[in-house]
Amino acid sequence: SGSFPYARSPPDRLLGGLLPDGLDERSCRSRYESSMYRRNPSRKPPPRLVAKLRKHEELQRRCGPNTDAYSRAVQQLRAGESAAEPPECKYVVSISYRGLGNRILAAASAFLYAVLTDRALLVDPSNEMDELFCEPFPGTTWLLPRDFPLASHFNNFTIDTAESYGNMLKNKVFRTDDAPAGTTTTQPPPAFAYLHLDHDYGDEDKMFFCDADQRALSRVQWLVMRTDLYTVPGLFLVTAFQEELGALFPEAERDAVFHHLARYLFHPSNHVWGLVTRYYRAYLARADLRVGIQVRNFDPRQAQSPLVLHQITSCVWTHKLLPEVLAAAAAATEELEHAVPVPGAKSTAVLITSLRSWYYERIKGLYWDRATATGEDVGVHQPSHEGQQQFGKRSHDGRAWAEMYLLSLCDVLVTSGWSTFGYVAQGLGGVRPWVLHKPANLTSVPDPPCFRDASMEPCFHSPHVYDCKLKRGADTGKMVPHVRHCEDISWGLKLV
Ligand code: GDP
Repeated sequence: SGSFPYARSPPDRLLGGLLPDGLDERSCRSRYESSMYRRNPSRKPPPRLVAKLRKHEELQRRCGPNTDAYSRAVQQLRAGESAAEPPECKYVVSISYRGLGNRILAAASAFLYAVLTDRALLVDPSNEMDELFCEPFPGTTWLLPRDFPLASHFNNFTIDTAESYGNMLKNKVFRTDDAPAGTTTTQPPPAFAYLHLDHDYGDEDKMFFCDADQRALSRVQWLVMRTDLYTVPGLFLVTAFQEELGALFPEAERDAVFHHLARYLFHPSNHVWGLVTRYYRAYLARADLRVGIQVRNFDPRQAQSPLVLHQITSCVWTHKLLPEVLAAAAAATEELEHAVPVPGAKSTAVLITSLRSWYYERIKGLYWDRATATGEDVGVHQPSHEGQQQFGKRSHDGRAWAEMYLLSLCDVLVTSGWSTFGYVAQGLGGVRPWVLHKPANLTSVPDPPCFRDASMEPCFHSPHVYDCKLKRGADTGKMVPHVRHCEDISWGLKLV
C-alpha cells in the first residue's frame, strides 16, 4: 500500500508478536514504523520467547520504579540489609559505559540475564541512555531513578571494589554451595553485589559463568553489572540456564539471539528516528540495492590508508558486492556507450559510516571517475564524519545510533572486525556480514581482505576459559556445538 513504501512484504508492525501492543505510537514512532523501512523482515520470534517476554513485562511493571516493591527493595539496600528470602523482587542494574555499541550489547546481555533469573532490569540513564531509546516495557520504565542509592558510586566500581562478586569470593565474604565441606553457607547474602564483567575482569569475577556461583548470586536482591561485552554466549554455557535458553531460542534461532533481543529492546527515540528516516528517504530508498560499509579504524594512523582502501575495494569486488569500475582506458570508450541508462541496470546505493570522510571521498571518486563494467550506477553516501569518538555529547551519540540503524536497513553489510558498532547493525538488520579483518600492521593488506561471518551474532570478546565442573582451565569454544570461536577475534566466542 502507498503508506508502506519500502518493505517488500506487508509490514508486520508487532514483528510476529515480539513487540507488545498498546504502547503510545506518537511518543515512539520507530517502534511501529520501522517495519515499513525494512526490506529484510525480522526472523520469526520463537513462541516461547514471546510468551516469556509478556511475562517478563509483567514482572517489570510489578517491580519497577514507582512501585511499593521497588521502594522496599531500595530501603533494604540503604539499610545495607539483605531482604527476607526469597525477596519479592530482585534486580539487575546495568551501568552505562563506553561507546554506544558496547552499551547496547551490555544492555541486551543484562536483559537476557534478567529474564533468565526473573529479575527486573534497570538501565543506568547516564551516557544518554535515556534520550536515545524508547521505553521497551509497557506501563513502567526501564530507567534507573537518578536518586538510586549506589548511583553516585558507579564510576568508582572497578575490579578492586570490595563488593564485587569476585572480591567477595576471594575474601570469603561470600561462599558458594560449592565450597569445601564443613564451611557454612547459611550466612545471609549481602544487600548487593557488584558484577564486574568488564573486559579486564579477573578469574574470580569470571566465576559468574558457573552454576554454583549463579545459585549463590540468586540470593542477592540487587546485582549491579558493569560490562562492555556481549556476554550472551557465556550464558549459554551455564548449565542451569541451558534448558530455558533452549526453549526460548530453539536450535534454528540460536544464531539470532541478539537479533530478537535488539529488535525487542532498542527503538530509536523520535529525534533519532527523524535522522534515520530523513536520510533513508533522501539517499537510500530509491536504490535497488543498498550496501552498507562500516569503516572503523582502531588505529588512528589508518584514518587515511591507501592499504585499507585497497582492502575494502578488493573485498567488495572479489565477492561481487559492488560492481567493479573499468580501467581508465576501457572506461573512455565504455562511457560513450553507457551515456544513456542501460535498460534494466540496477542502481546501487552505498552507505558508508566512519568517523572520517577519507574512505568515502575515495570510493565516491572511484565511481565518479570511472564507469562500471555493467553500466550500473553507484551512489556513495556518508551521513556524518564526527572526527573522533566523543563522550557525553548528545548530538554525537544520536548520530552514531542513527548510523548504526541506517546500516541495519541495508541489504548487504561490510563491517569492520572487532567493532561492536558493526555488531549492532548486523544483528538489528538480521544480516550476516562480510567482515574486514583488522589490519595486523600498517604495511600490508590482510589476505584475504574479508570473510563471510558464520552468523549475525556479536562476538563475546573476553570469555572465561574455565570448566566449572572439572574446575580447571578449558577451551570454552569447544563445549557446546552452537558456541564457537569468532573469526575476527580468535579467543572470542559467538553463537552460530
Ligand atoms: P566500537 O568501539 O567500534 O566497538 O563501537 P562503539 O559504538 O562501542 O564505540 C565507538 C564510538 O565511536 C561510537 O559509539 C560513536 O560514538 C563513535 N563512532 C565510531 N564509528 C562511528 C561512525 O561510523 N559514525 C559515527 N557517527 N560515530 C562513530
